[in-house]
Amino acid sequence: MRFGIRTLDEVTVSGKTVLCRVDINQPVDRKTGRLKSVNRILACVPTIRELADRGARVVLMAHQGSDIEYKNFYTTKPHAAVLSEALGQEVKWIDDVCGPAARQMIRELQDGEILLLDNVRFVSEEQTLFENKLHLSHEEQAKTLLVEKLAPLGDLYVCDAFAAAHRDQPSLCGFEQLLPSAMGRLFEKEFCTVSQIMEAPERPCVFVLGGAKIADAFLMMRTVLARGVADRILTGGLVANIFLISQGKQIGQGSLDFILKSNYGEFFDRAKELYALYGERIVLPADLAWVEDGCRREAAIADMPEAVAAVDIGSQTVTQYRDIILSASTVFINGPMGVFEQEPSEYGTSAVWQALADTGGFTVLGGGDSITATEKYKLTDKMGYICTGGGALIRFLTGEELPVVKALRHGAALPEKE
Ligand code: ADP
Ligand code: MG
Repeated sequence: MRFGIRTLDEVTVSGKTVLCRVDINQPVDRKTGRLKSVNRILACVPTIRELADRGARVVLMAHQGSDIEYKNFYTTKPHAAVLSEALGQEVKWIDDVCGPAARQMIRELQDGEILLLDNVRFVSEEQTLFENKLHLSHEEQAKTLLVEKLAPLGDLYVCDAFAAAHRDQPSLCGFEQLLPSAMGRLFEKEFCTVSQIMEAPERPCVFVLGGAKIADAFLMMRTVLARGVADRILTGGLVANIFLISQGKQIGQGSLDFILKSNYGEFFDRAKELYALYGERIVLPADLAWVEDGCRREAAIADMPEAVAAVDIGSQTVTQYRDIILSASTVFINGPMGVFEQEPSEYGTSAVWQALADTGGFTVLGGGDSITATEKYKLTDKMGYICTGGGALIRFLTGEELPVVKALRHGAALPEKE
């Protein structure tokens, strides 16, 4: 047991039907069915490989997009092809989630065979809309359609979906009520890596926080500062802009308008309070950049023009952040330093990312856009650990127990089936 959860070392899988929840959610082009990235699919290959090699009948459950990410709502068919290739073994697929056809196919699986079911979120109780409206307890989740139909066919439930561990949905938290459960290898590795940062990071431990997920970023900053986890927080992106404005700095009307338009106005007070408590550990940019007639312009905070929108950190700030990152022993990164998608505002992110690649400290990076930036600058091999989760990672660092962790601890108490 690790963290009160069974690992794959502690379960017998040979000849058993293993219901395995993975997170292989990737950006997809719905017109062509082409997956724009496959990093998450490849990340769960070791667990699937191990289960099949140990003689399990592997049933994979996964989501692709959702109500809140509708542009990526799609079938899991392309994923089966990617998995088959990566595993060098056919991964069967069926356009059904828990209906009679899917159940028949599960019953016919042989030892060592793998079946991927269609998108679990085609079943309504898996939608985030339902999660937010209904707040089903884990006992109630065990009585939903998906769990009632599939649990009787399974001997063991394995969750390898750390990236979805902050979701409270039947495929993630319902099966553990009925089936003995374990975490997969990827889940175990990601959970250990982030727990290590939270409990005993090598110091100095520096957080680099940018991007636009303001609510979670503020919750997380409070926790890591209050618990003394973070020795320094280097701010960028919207996080930095909110702090600067909360300190009464004038950084351009466009910056303020963007924050108000995004409904982040309430965070000025939170930023002010956090800065009053922990200001000596929160580092704010000394200069910022904006775009004028398609060209990049920079100024020190005191000299920012009134009519602009700050979209990146400036070069003085980059130099300062680089030095701090180079002398850190642990660096946690979430969120780009600016609008890195566009050339005039990508310098802050590209230069800070290069510092992450150059530091001798252990770097842990998570978040969809942060990973996209890492791929864009071809630094994937240079990072210490790239976490498949964004939301789950941040939520973990706020100090809350993740719903899936709670459910897996419950499932650890159920005896294995003979
Ligand atoms: P991640 O996906 O890595 O967790 P987020 O989703 O929180 O990161 O933030 C990424 C987004 O934030 C990017 O689309 C980027 O363009 C945007 N962003 C970064 N800095 C700014 C800024 N100063 N103003 C507006 N948007 C920004
Ligand atoms: Mg993002």
